[in-house]
Amino acid sequence: MKIVMLGAPGAGKGTQADKIADQYGLPHISTGDIFRKNIKEGTELGKEAKGYMDAGKLVPDELTVRMLLDRVSQEDCSKGYILDGFPRTIPQAEALDSELKRLGENIDFAIDVEVPDQNIINRMSGRRACPKCNAIYHIEFIPPKKEGICDECGEELVIREDDKPETVKKRLEVYHEQTQPLIDFYDKKGVLHTVDGRVDAEDVFEAIRSILK
Ligand code: ADP
Ligand code: ADP
Ligand code: ZN
Repeated sequence: MKIVMLGAPGAGKGTQADKIADQYGLPHISTGDIFRKNIKEGTELGKEAKGYMDAGKLVPDELTVRMLLDRVSQEDCSKGYILDGFPRTIPQAEALDSELKRLGENIDFAIDVEVPDQNIINRMSGRRACPKCNAIYHIEFIPPKKEGICDECGEELVIREDDKPETVKKRLEVYHEQTQPLIDFYDKKGVLHTVDGRVDAEDVFEAIRSILK
């Protein structure tokens, strides 16, 4: 089963992708997480990506597509995967599509998590992330058991550098311009499903579960 998560930055794609990964035993592939890991490790890819990410812009398609296609060709993806944060542009979706065609495969579900822009800033300003295991929390809505500490691995949680309100505004603009057209792209393929992302994360997951059944 191959799933694409769609939605604005902060809509809850990563949170839901984690739950789907747990329940269905599929790898959760977040291009943002892969970029952040490369930045932390100081790789060439990380150096190239960092400037774009800090400015709230997209990393160029060529680089991103190459990285993603390499990732999904790995052994743990043979039964499927959940893509979170990819594709983000029409050329990325087309590149994925033509690779899948070549393999005789296709995306089974594209799930759009809908949250209006006015709720997004709030979500992003309270987001805390685990730099070690990538677990996601919110200081108000989804707090860790112990303040500032990851429930899963005990690491200290961090505020993402690109979650500042100015950068979030830019990311939302980029989303509407470049990523939102993907909703139509997957709708035309007949695999689009929309869920209301404003409700509790558990309730969003219930809606997704009934789609995947
Ligand atoms: P969010 O969780 O807010 O949606 P991500 O962690 O997915 O953010 O992405 C963080 C940043 O990484 C993006 O703003 C962008 O700069 C870069 N990035 C991640 N995925 C892609 C992609 N598919 N194409 C281009 N840039 C990407
Ligand atoms: P995305 O991957 O789309 O950028 P995240 O999953 O990182 O979004 O969620 C953004 C922030 O909102 C995080 O702080 C997360 O804990 C919180 N969050 C996720 N889902 C919900 C929800 N249904 N209600 C309230 N807060 C949520
Ligand atoms: Zn952790």
